[in-house]
Amino acid sequence: MRFDIITIFPNILDSYFNESILKRAGKNGLVEIKTHNLRDFTDDKHHKVDESPYGGGPGMVFKVEPIEQAVKSVKKQAGNKKSRVILFSLRGEKFDQKIAHRLVKYDQLIFICGRYEGVDERVAEYIADEEISIGDYVLSGGELPAAIVTEAVSRLVKGVLGKHDSLEEFKGSYPVYTKPEIVKIKGKNRKVPDVLLSGDHKKIEEWRNKR
Ligand code: SAH
Repeated sequence: MRFDIITIFPNILDSYFNESILKRAGKNGLVEIKTHNLRDFTDDKHHKVDESPYGGGPGMVFKVEPIEQAVKSVKKQAGNKKSRVILFSLRGEKFDQKIAHRLVKYDQLIFICGRYEGVDERVAEYIADEEISIGDYVLSGGELPAAIVTEAVSRLVKGVLGKHDSLEEFKGSYPVYTKPEIVKIKGKNRKVPDVLLSGDHKKIEEWRNKR
């Protein structure tokens, strides 16, 4: 599965993707994560990607044309893959595990990361297939949302999670403990729940389901 991230700050993401699970998945050829500098898709010699908004107001807005060029180019690079173009926006559908399961069915996800005052609305209307928000709070750009969606979706690609990584889905999340059995915290001994030391697997499963 291929992820193409269109951003004016490609370096922010490269260091994160070059570690841990995602690095291994890349090495194994299971996922391919590519960042693209939006400024490479301008005709303008100053590589200008933004303009002030019509109607006035503070801030700058990403222009349509460089984004259209970038999307066209990364679609072409991937060949005729089943792709989905996603714009990160505060007005988008709220991201969750269900959306991650829906997105893992595509061969290529193309992410458009906004900045400043946002992106010319015609990108949402005519270029993106959908808009996603990662939550009701305002970030300075779509780069962290892109990293979050990339990681949540790649974990669902078959073979990406190794035997040391948890397969647990959000709804099956339960409290976990590890050694030592008793530890002093703020002057008091704190012990691992007895049931987890009982060796009774049926009881342990019941306890985990309840929690
Ligand atoms: N005043 C703008 C704020 C844009 S924030 C507005 O009200 O829309 C700049 C960019 O960051 C956005 O275009 C979007 O791409 C990204 N962004 C910020 N917060 C986000 C969130 N919670 N989820 C997804 N993208 C977000």
